[in-house]
Amino acid sequence: MYVLVMNTGSSSLKYQLLDSESLAIVDKGLCEKVGSPDSFYSHGLGDAARTDTLPLFDHLAAVRAVLENLLDPSSVALANLEEIIAVGHRVVHGGEAFVKSVVIDEDVIAKIKECVPLAPLHNPAALTGIEACQTLIPAALQVAVFDTAFHQTIPPRAFRYALPDTLYTQHRIRKYGFHGTSHRYVAARAAEILERPLEDLRIITCHLGNGCSLTAVDRGHSVDTSMGFTPLDGVVMGTRCGSIDPAIVVYLITELGMSAEEVDRLMNRESGLLGLTGISNDIRDVHTAVADSDERAELALEIYANAIRRYIGQYAFSMGGVDAIVMTAGVGENDSILRQMVLSGLEGFGIVLDERRNALRGADRVISTDDSSVTLLVIPTNEELLIAKDALALWAARG
Ligand code: AMP
Repeated sequence: MYVLVMNTGSSSLKYQLLDSESLAIVDKGLCEKVGSPDSFYSHGLGDAARTDTLPLFDHLAAVRAVLENLLDPSSVALANLEEIIAVGHRVVHGGEAFVKSVVIDEDVIAKIKECVPLAPLHNPAALTGIEACQTLIPAALQVAVFDTAFHQTIPPRAFRYALPDTLYTQHRIRKYGFHGTSHRYVAARAAEILERPLEDLRIITCHLGNGCSLTAVDRGHSVDTSMGFTPLDGVVMGTRCGSIDPAIVVYLITELGMSAEEVDRLMNRESGLLGLTGISNDIRDVHTAVADSDERAELALEIYANAIRRYIGQYAFSMGGVDAIVMTAGVGENDSILRQMVLSGLEGFGIVLDERRNALRGADRVISTDDSSVTLLVIPTNEELLIAKDALALWAARG
């Protein structure tokens, strides 16, 4: 038996097929440029990986191509689609309606639709993926796993903005937070590695990829997170500016004559590491520029690291202390220089980075010294695994 994990974007579809017993990955793949004539489909593991160019007119066609590959005797060779017992769909926005993963029914679909204005690019894509799987794999249990759900435990003092009350009560403007599945996964892994109950720990999880967010996980519950009403807020990111004085938006419009769309593009696609360096959103390129003595690149790294330190300090204080800090995602897992910039010089707070351990590569690992009061960890995130586990748990609960 198998579980399928689906992550449907506006023009893409990413999936993993896992064995429902061992949770080993049996196949994975990515359909890109769905809806355009030059769409293609990459799939397979290791040496068997290959890319097929084929027309995928819509997400239904993409799901159909994936299922054909899963049934293909020369590929994954499932006996039939009934072997897939559950499908876990990543859904970006669940608003205030979902505090955990749920079995998809008509009511759930309606609530995901209600959240479309809050995630206009992402939720419609997830809905097309759900609809395609309902049509093509009707026997499988369809489960929705929300990026926002883990953050629904954030108290009002942290999720409300100091704006007129009606903007929250009538227009749903509040902090929602994102990357929830990743934060939940690495917090639980940290507790396992520390061999302590999650309920005893105050953890700060740092998801640092192209998008970045930090979360304060107090005894297993998210109590604050750096992304807000949208994934633009918080720390500096690859192309996003993170939090800035909101009056800058007004200034750009009134003084520089920019339109709302231009400001949106500026803040989401032309800012962050890319905007600061004028070189790249990829931190590896920024390091290369630093090695060539590019001063803008040096400053960009300092601004980026400083933004992350600020949130770590804020969350340690708001939780009344911190037991562990976890680094994850592309930058957090791989970039020892950035980790050092963020975590060094904090001995006065009982945070002692072990430079030798920090420089090592590998899977889950501790990078603090043995006498550091706060344990520092690097844990590769695995959102797909958690989505698969949630889907299987709901399948098992149904009997
Ligand atoms: P993600 O969004 O988690 O896939 O992270 C993507 C970002 O991680 C890239 O834009 C890079 O900045 C960074 N990254 C990925 N691999 C490495 C690496 N080996 N060393 C340093 N940074 C990396």
